Amino acid sequence: MDYREITDFIHQLYGTEDFVPLSVPKFVGNEKKYLEECIDSTFVSSVGPFVDRFEEEIARYTGAARAVVCVNGTSALHVALMLVGVERGDEVLTQSLTFIATCNAISYTGAHPVFIDVDRETLGLSPDALSAWLEKYAAITGSGCRNRRTGRRIKACVPMHTFGHPARITEIAAICEQWGIELVEDAAESIGSRYQGQHTGTFGKVGALSFNGNKTLTTGGGGMLLFNDPELGAWAKHLTTQAKVPHRWEFRHDAVGYNYRMPNINAALGCAQLENLDTLIESKREVAAEYARFFEGSGLQFVREPEGCRSNYWLNAVLLPSREERDAFLEYTNDHGVMTRPVWELMTDLPMFEGCERDAQQVTRWLADRLVNLPSSPRV
Ligand SMILES: *Cc1c(COP(=O)(O)O)cnc(C)c1O
Repeated sequence: MDYREITDFIHQLYGTEDFVPLSVPKFVGNEKKYLEECIDSTFVSSVGPFVDRFEEEIARYTGAARAVVCVNGTSALHVALMLVGVERGDEVLTQSLTFIATCNAISYTGAHPVFIDVDRETLGLSPDALSAWLEKYAAITGSGCRNRRTGRRIKACVPMHTFGHPARITEIAAICEQWGIELVEDAAESIGSRYQGQHTGTFGKVGALSFNGNKTLTTGGGGMLLFNDPELGAWAKHLTTQAKVPHRWEFRHDAVGYNYRMPNINAALGCAQLENLDTLIESKREVAAEYARFFEGSGLQFVREPEGCRSNYWLNAVLLPSREERDAFLEYTNDHGVMTRPVWELMTDLPMFEGCERDAQQVTRWLADRLVNLPSSPRV
């Protein structure tokens, strides 16, 4: 297919001859009104009603027993890993095809990421590769699951729902259960995405969402922890608010806490965004459906939601035939008013993670050579 046809199609999709960005936020509801309420009431920071309301509404929306706000998705992941007991020197299984935040959060705990291959269909951690790697290198000991090569404890597994498409999460959860490994879902990209009807981020002990500016729902910057166990959620609330013991005037803290609480103004934006989330996702799904029809029979494979899943289609993606064609396509589209991007540079190729354990990464490399993200903003 001629690249020109593709840029023409995308300009027509968004009804403009101008530059088409990859993903921009839409504020079509009560955003201004709620922000004004914050300013008028002076509750812009760590005290205010929107924080509790946003947590309650996200819990209801996702079906989690408890939701706890954080300043961003990275801090949510950091707390999530600490909450499941990841400690310095542990190993945490994850994917190399992810945004840097996943691995930064693992590094903050002093643990070592181990990179497992992804599925070609879901772009998320492959349960088959996970199982194969564990069979080959892991052993269940009296002190938990251990890597027989390094001797380190394998404490947690962090699959990521890439571009909003759910990974094969129930299979991953079953494998983690079998090996005594804690499951922490990086659901940063997948608000509104469901696997067999269940919201992503609610399959393990903890899940993390992100509300960064480029995500499907934005609070400017922000994140959320999702819990099935309300008591663990209450502990997370305590840890993310400086571990302060409630008292009318005394300053007493009973643990090393974190100042990870989301300010009220950000939560206000979140409450307004959530009111229109389903409309935004519906529009993104229509955009994805139009891409799917357009690429049908074109020789280029459009990435569709996995079977049994409902994806928020955070970022649409298409697979080019080779790395050379991918580069030519990136060049042409970005030269012709359409913003496109390759997938993140693989974690295994970054200097900080060069020495980390990994499997053969065959599918990961194959995808990284071919994948290009296309404009994905909702049309509202
Ligand atoms: C956006 C994102 C995060 C969190 O990012 P923040 O900018 O800290 O909110 C984490 N993991 C992945 C995969 C992401 O895409």
